[in-house]
Amino acid sequence: MAALPIRLYPDPVLKQEAAPIDQIGDDIRQLGRDMIDTMIHAPGSGLAAPQVGRSCRLIVVDGGGPGETGDKDKAIVLVNPEIVSAEGEILFEEACLSVLEYSAKVKRAAAVKVRGLNLEGRPVEIETNGRLAVVFQHEIDHLDGILFIDRISSLKRDLYRRKLKKILKNREEQNA
Ligand code: ZN
Repeated sequence: MAALPIRLYPDPVLKQEAAPIDQIGDDIRQLGRDMIDTMIHAPGSGLAAPQVGRSCRLIVVDGGGPGETGDKDKAIVLVNPEIVSAEGEILFEEACLSVLEYSAKVKRAAAVKVRGLNLEGRPVEIETNGRLAVVFQHEIDHLDGILFIDRISSLKRDLYRRKLKKILKNREEQNA
């Protein structure tokens, strides 16, 4: 059990389309468990494998309701997750463990049905709405190389890029 280092934008692994997982072996099960630890340690609402430098289709999501987040037993792991249906629209303030010091409102589907496999290789289907639906869409986007800042206006994104340059420069100076 270990929290893994999190890759930060603009790391190129975050832009890659992640490969499907054809076999759920010990390495994938270990990765799933480590990603749960990483998500809870961060803390975050979800995490996708590319964020820990593994370009494969695996996500973990904090399935806890209000007041129950951060509970390892409530974490959901999905291999090769897919959104099979989506309904409605919601504007939700998002942030990302790979995107430093930023949050923005993103338009998402209000309700989704998600399908995938659990770590035992059994099919799982989850229907959800609100916060959890947004987290699933955000994490599955990561598997296609899409970050939430790719879903905001280019003007806002440019402002963020400039802000990030300053943040990274300050960090370098602090570490020098
Ligand atoms: Zn993210």
